This record gives sequence, structure tokens and C-alpha cells, in this order.
Amino acid sequence: MRDLLGGKGAGLAEMTRLGLPVPPGFTLTTEACRTYLATGAEPPTLHGEVSAHLAALEERMGGRRLGRGDDPLLVSVRSGARFSMPGMMDTVLNIGLNDTAVHALAARSGDERFAWDSYRRLIQMFGHTVLGIDADRFEEKLAIARDAVGVATDAELNSRHLRGVVRQFRDLVVEHTGHDFPQDPREQLDLAVRAVFDSWNGDRARLYRRQEGIPDDLGTAVNVVAMVFGNLGPDSGTGVAFTRDPASGAQGVYGDYLPNAQGEDVVAGIRNTVPLAELARLDRASYDELLRIMEVLENHYRDMCDIEFTIERGRLWMLQTRVGKRTAAAAFRIATQALDQGLIDAEEALRRVTGEQLTQLMFPRFDVNHHARPVATGIPASPGAAVGVAVFDSATAVARAAAGERVVLVRRETNPDDLDGMLAAEGILTSRGGKTSHAAVVARGMGRTCVCGAEELRVDAAARRLTLPDGTVVAEGETLSVDGSTGHVYRGELPVVPSPVMEYFEGGGTPPTAGDAPDELVTAVHRLMTEADRRRRLGVRANADTAEDAARARRFGARGIGLTRTEHMFLGERRALVERLILAEDDAERGAALDALLPLQRQDFRELFQAMDGLPTTIRLLDPPLHEFLPDLTELSVRVATGEGGAADDRLLAAVRRLHEQNPMLGLRGVRLGLVVPGLFSMQVRAIAEAAAAHHAAGGDPRPEIMIPLVGTVRELELVRADADRVVAEAAPSLTIPLGTMIELPRAALTAGEIAGSADFFSFGTNDLTQTVWGFSRDDVESSFFAAYLEKGIFPASPFETLDTEGVGALVRTAVEKGRAARPDLKLGVCGEHGGDPDSVHFFHAAGLDYVSCSPFRVPVARLEAGRAALTPPT
Ligand code: PEP
Ligand code: MG
Repeated sequence: MRDLLGGKGAGLAEMTRLGLPVPPGFTLTTEACRTYLATGAEPPTLHGEVSAHLAALEERMGGRRLGRGDDPLLVSVRSGARFSMPGMMDTVLNIGLNDTAVHALAARSGDERFAWDSYRRLIQMFGHTVLGIDADRFEEKLAIARDAVGVATDAELNSRHLRGVVRQFRDLVVEHTGHDFPQDPREQLDLAVRAVFDSWNGDRARLYRRQEGIPDDLGTAVNVVAMVFGNLGPDSGTGVAFTRDPASGAQGVYGDYLPNAQGEDVVAGIRNTVPLAELARLDRASYDELLRIMEVLENHYRDMCDIEFTIERGRLWMLQTRVGKRTAAAAFRIATQALDQGLIDAEEALRRVTGEQLTQLMFPRFDVNHHARPVATGIPASPGAAVGVAVFDSATAVARAAAGERVVLVRRETNPDDLDGMLAAEGILTSRGGKTSHAAVVARGMGRTCVCGAEELRVDAAARRLTLPDGTVVAEGETLSVDGSTGHVYRGELPVVPSPVMEYFEGGGTPPTAGDAPDELVTAVHRLMTEADRRRRLGVRANADTAEDAARARRFGARGIGLTRTEHMFLGERRALVERLILAEDDAERGAALDALLPLQRQDFRELFQAMDGLPTTIRLLDPPLHEFLPDLTELSVRVATGEGGAADDRLLAAVRRLHEQNPMLGLRGVRLGLVVPGLFSMQVRAIAEAAAAHHAAGGDPRPEIMIPLVGTVRELELVRADADRVVAEAAPSLTIPLGTMIELPRAALTAGEIAGSADFFSFGTNDLTQTVWGFSRDDVESSFFAAYLEKGIFPASPFETLDTEGVGALVRTAVEKGRAARPDLKLGVCGEHGGDPDSVHFFHAAGLDYVSCSPFRVPVARLEAGRAALTPPT
């Protein structure tokens, strides 16, 4: 009943039902809060209901009355929403104390000091949270009192001093509100409840909800609970505990205890706590009971719980419980332990881990105990912990790495020319660009650590240095540590710990054997991956451009390649050949360029088929934005203007001018290029067919699939297809090679029925589809205004990262429907970056796709999330 009672209220109610020692109390529901927030007044029946429940509470407390009589009942008033919002809303303790009750409390407890200290705490908390008096005013008065007495801590103030403090606090209340501190216990209660309701809309709470994605309209419940005191002497105390270690997931209780203290003292860290085990020595009976209760709670919630408790004069009271927060490693271990112990089934175990957590486990990390301070922070684009010397260009990265140094490549932004350097580097740091910038996408694909868009850094590649926000300079060769999980950048070398989970995947995911004392975490990951694979309906393929990537993808569990970007095969030295092809002025020039490219491509594909033997290998024909293959217009113009270049440069400049585009992403690329440059696509198709035929002849099992990029109309596809079919029939007559298209333009999605007539498969290019549906330039927008959009809540996550299901997703669904209607056996996949994003994977499952394809390093995450997407919803 967390919706109605909030997390804390539900936990208290549940523990009460289980017969555990919970101080009696009652909960005002979130519904009451919502009415109050909507109308500005408590629901009309609330007052009467509180009276009835208060009377019942007094009854249960043996007739003690709130703030009255010789044994006055005191209560706490605490907030508690559906989702935990630690410290974001208000709490008032010791409600019920007043000028008479304080004497009764002193007599009853036999502790004068305790009574006055409790009263002082009430006025302080009430004054601040309910009456809105600046908390510092109270602290100032306390400091004056301490100075006057000549002591350092509040604990050293005696009852006489505290009486004086109470007097001063009451003066403060009168001064700020014009009224005396309310003496009527019921009035205190009603005002405190209202303050808790109001705190739902406090600045802190709103900010927290925005960050955590918690809806603003839930409201908070209010728990009114009889006070128990942990500060009544050495046989009292308070503590927090977890039923398993929330950091590692290791079995066995784990917690802290603070003798003779109230909960606030633990949170405030005023005194040092002792390990829970110490309680066994101090109070064996309470300790044993606590362990018994923790076992009851674990068995009941079937999960790791965290609890708060208080011991009042040797009597244990449970103040709170909930399913505890945990690290990624603990999540995997605890889910598997619970599965082994028969507490939960495999489906539930899968529900309790996420792809996000698995990602965290796959990267090496900086040792958590480092205390270094970051010198800058950027966008955490590709996780991991990279340490290396700063270098400012690709060639230096390659050279220094070849000499055995670890390097961090620092660029303003990267482009395809940086590929070698990125490959050679441990990590990549850029000052521009967001999570789908070139640096981010390529780094994720390579599994390199990347922090991008660290805008506070000034990168000066020419001078080989970068300037930190404080003005200091980092020169080439200085060591940097880059944390791709947090976006932090450090100077110097931080200690790194490798990931055993990554080693497991790199080893092909073979089950850990009992013989070599398997890491419990790796065993847990293997177990849950196996369960996910068993359940998933979505296939998982990889985006891979090289045999090496393909082999890794296979080890990581990919069953095929969903996208080979052939333009990545034309970088480096080969770029000149493409340049020659594009700029060719006659058939002879063009033919020569194509003849030079054909054997290179054939070899590329042969290697891919070998690595993916027996599995589908989708090769996409060339799709470069043209400018990536041509010399830079400005540089070339300068060369021509200064007369540095010869006649060849003049000719080149004219051609580059002619082909120059304002929006290359929307220009002559993809199928358009294939239709305009004669022979280009035919050459690629021929290379695929010949490579497949050769591999087949050698006894292999090649499964090529040819994919056409950026198709907007079926007419484009028909033209390419006619030519491709002819070439395949010629080059590999015994093979059938499916030919399909990417769906990455809105027009393609809307006319998917017609397109399906000429396609054997669709693969959704959700990068371009997002770009064209939103009209967002994928290379520019993330660094220019996405931060503002996220801040304003226009979208909760970048649509380039997590699929925009309402917009882009609607087009995906449309195309699925139209495509399948036209051709029921149409194979459907996705190869945009979203193929490895957990939320998006769930959408693709629901949309009925056959597979997702993502970078090799995200294959395990896609497998896990595809398995989780196939679970039956919990009842
Ligand atoms: C896409 O657009 O989603 C896609 C996979 O192609 P690229 O990112 O290469 O444009
Ligand atoms: Mg694309």
C-alpha cells in the first residue's frame, strides 16, 4: 500500500502486521495530502479521524494521554512518500511536550536533563519546520549558551543550562511569530501535520523530484508514532542496519549502532557509531532479537532490507524498514542468493537487476577510496577508468602508445581522422559534443572510456596543451585520469581496479567452474544472463565493422551482425581512393578507382564472414556524409590562395566547391550517393558476393545480408535492387543474398508497405530517424541546447540515447505494421544506438521486432534487457 501510506507508513504497517515491536501509531494518507495541496485545506473529516486514531493510540499506550498526565505520551510526526526522498521533507519529534509535560517527563524518566533536552529539541525543530524560523537562529542561541558555560558540545550542557536555552528559544518564537510557542499538544500535532504536507512542495523536495523523475502529484503521507527514546542512558541507543551488505551483497547483517543517542545524532554524525556486532556485547538480548527480526523481514520481503531501530532501556523498537538500496554488484549477488535460497524465482531475480547495473560492472573502475578532487567535469559518455598521458592529436597518440605508453587523447571534438588515435588511447576527453557526438559514439563502440563536452576545458591542439578552469595548464605528456562513469577528470594517476565481469564476457561467457574458486559476482552474472537468454524473444546482434569487433561481439553473445558501416572501411590510406572515385571526371578514372577498391573490400568482407561464420552478417553499402571523404574546403582554399598547391589543387578545389553542402547529413549520402556515383554500389555488392562465394567454396557458411541506407521511396530501392540482383547472380550464382533497407527517414516509415515490396528485411536506423523526426542535427544539438531542454523537463533523457517512443517510436510501430502487412515474413531489426539502451530495448520488444543490434560492448546489456522485457508483469 505504498501509494496510499507512503514507503515508511507501509513498512510500519507491515511490520506491525508481522507482530514485530513497532511503537504504536497511525498514518495520514497521501490522499489527505493531495486534497490539502489541491484545495489549500485539510479534508473536512480529517480532524475527527485524527481524534479517533489518537484516542485509540492513547488506549493502546495504556491510557497515557498526548502531552498530559504524569506519564505524558509524546509522538513523532514524520513524512513518508511513495518513493524515498531522504532528508527532503520535514520531521518533528517530541510533539506533546509543554511547560507542564516537561516536568512529568523528568519525573517519569528520572532524568531531568533528558526532559529539558527533549523540550529544547521540540521547540527547535518545530520553530524551524513549522514556524519557518531560520535554523541558524537556534544554533546561535545554543552556541551562546555553550560559550557562557565554557563547554564545547551540547551534551555537556546540564538541565539548568537547557532550561535557560528553552527560555531563549521561546523568546525567539515570540519575536518571530508574535505568538508564544503553542502549549496545546493537539495544536502542536495539527500544525506539524500541516507543515509536513507543505514540505512536499518545498524547494528541496521539488528539486529532488525533478532530478529523480518522481511525479509532483503524489503527495506525502504523515506518520504519527509514539516516541521511544534511545537517549535514556547506557542501556538505550539507536542504529541502522542492513540484512546483507549493500555494498558487496555479502551475506550477513551489517550496520551501525550509537549507544545512548537519538536517530538525529546518527544522521548528524555528531558522534562515531560502533559496528552492529558491538551491540552483541552491550545488550545480547536486544541483539539476538534484532537478528531474528531481520530474518523475518528478509523472508517477508524476500529481499535485502534496511532498518532503523531504537533500544529504550533494554527494549528493542523497530522504527522503519524498506527494501534497501544497493550497488550494482550487490544487486546481482543478492538476487542470485535469494534465488538459491528459494526466496524468489528466476523471473523475480531478473526483475531485480538492470542493464544499467550490468554496464557499471563491465568497466574497470577507479578504486573507491581515492580522495582526489576533479579538475573538470564533462558528460560521462562511455564508462570506465582511463589513466594516461595527455596527447592532443591522433598521430601522437598512436606513436606514444606504440612506444608502450598509456595515453588519453584530448581533442576539442573528434572526427573520423581521429580513429587511429582513439583506438590507441585508453580514454578520450573532448571539450565539445554530447553523448551522440562522434567521440561518444565511437568510444562506446570501441569500449574506450570517454568524457565529452567538458566545456570548462580549453583545448589548444596546436599548442599541445589544455587549460583548466582555474587557469592552470596541462601540457602534453602530463598524466590525466578520466572517469567515464561520472564525467570527472583528474590530474595525475588514480588507482584502477579491473572488472572480473568483463573478463568473464571476454572469455566467451563460459560458466565459472568450482575448481578455480569462482568470483561470486561473476557466478551471479552468469546465472542471470543464462536466465535472460532462456527467456528473451528478441535476437541480439552487433554493430561491427572489423573482424576483431565481430569476434568480440560473438564472445559477448551476439548472434550475428546487424550493421557493418562500410564507410569505416575507407578511412586512412583508402580515403584517397574514395576521393578519387567521387571526383572522377570520366568512366576511365572512375573505373580505375573502383578496380582499386574492389579487392580491398572483398578482403574486408571475407574476414567478417569468417568471424561470423554461420551467422547473419548485415553489410550496409556506403553511407558517408560526403564531406567526410573530401579535403577540408577552408584548408584547401588557403592552399590554393597561397599558391602552395599546384594545378591539381585548383581542380580539386573546384570539385570540392561544387560538392560542398550546408547540411551534409541531409545531403548527398546513402542511397543517393549510390545512385549518383555510377558503379559504387555495384562494386560493393560484387565484393560481398565474391567474398561470400569464396568463403563458401572454402567450406565456410557465409550469411551476408545487403542493406541500403537512407531510402525514402521504394523507387530508390527498386533501382538499387535491380542492379544488385544482377551482380549477385553473376558473382555468386549459387547463393541467395537477402537485400533489405534501413528505415531511417520518416517517409520510409510512412511508406513502409510499398518499400516492403522490394525489401527482404528492415532495420530501423533510429539515429537518423530521431534526427529527422525532431529536426535535430545529431552532431550539434546535444552540446548546444540539450542541457537546457533536460533542465526544463522538455524530455527526461536525450532522444538520441533513449528512444522517443511517442514520436520516433510511433513511426517505428507504423512501419512494423505496414511492413508486416505487406510481407508477413519481413525480418525486422534495429541498428541505431538505441539497440543497446535498456528502456529502448523494452520498447523494441513490445513493438514486435525480431532483433536489436548494438555495439559489441553493449551486447550483454541488450541480452539481459531483452530477457527482462519478456518477463510476465508482476502480479
Ligand atoms: C542510424 O541512422 O540509426 C544508423 C544506424 O546509421 P548511422 O548511425 O550510421 O547513420
Ligand atoms: Mg543512419
